[in-house]
Amino acid sequence: MGKSKRKRSKSQGGAKLTAKELQGFKKLLLIKRAFITGDLDRLQNETLSKSRQEAAGDISNMPTHMPDIASDNFEQEFSVGLIENVEDEVREIDAALERIEEGTFGICESCDQLIPKARLRAIPYAHLCVECKRKEELGE
Ligand SMILES: [Zn+2]
Repeated sequence: MGKSKRKRSKSQGGAKLTAKELQGFKKLLLIKRAFITGDLDRLQNETLSKSRQEAAGDISNMPTHMPDIASDNFEQEFSVGLIENVEDEVREIDAALERIEEGTFGICESCDQLIPKARLRAIPYAHLCVECKRKEELGE
């Protein structure tokens, strides 16, 4: 946190977020968090109690050409994968909420530019601007 590069006057990212906008993003993050954590409970229940019953039960509207990979194992692994992603997302949301408290929300962690609001609206817990995110994904 010892960055002292606060002298960038011309920002390409857009205007700084107002207190009101920050509150809006905070609300958005809290709602999203509640939503996905509720979802997490449901997913876990489904994964734990998933029985053949369901697979055998409601097949009436399943296409007959359904490939055979939709086995119990496949489905369970898939569900577990989803849960991990949800946990990641909760972590991201918590980190974003912390940044709101710290006053660093909406600032790219890599280049200190403001993250465009359109991007924040799409991904309220984004901590990198589009450019840095792309570089990160490319491993640059
Ligand atoms: Zn950046």
